[in-house]
Amino acid sequence: MRAACPRCRQQSPMHLSAKDWNRRITDETFDYYRCAACGIVFLSPVPRDIGKYYPTAYYGIPASIADLVAVAELERYKIELVQRYATRGRLLEIGPATAPSLGSPSRPASTPSPSK
Ligand SMILES: [Zn+2]
Repeated sequence: MRAACPRCRQQSPMHLSAKDWNRRITDETFDYYRCAACGIVFLSPVPRDIGKYYPTAYYGIPASIADLVAVAELERYKIELVQRYATRGRLLEIGPATAPSLGSPSRPASTPSPSK
């Protein structure tokens, strides 16, 4: 199976399949492809009715900066997971909603610390 990279249009091989283990909103399987030319991993096809995977209660809106910082702290495990594989350079986080995992109001960061 192959799909066109949304960034550079290169035909890309399937990289992995995944289910919604976090929210368990659906039992569907989603296919992700990895572009050999530019390196991005992308979902294909993107569901036309993607809204059904994001119900109204999907994101809680923190009432204060303190609440936002507390929520971000709960997301710290994601930083630790990323730092296992990305020990230097800069990271771009896409789609953190209201709970930033790579940075927070008290700890703006998108650069992992070098591991020694
Ligand atoms: Zn590409």
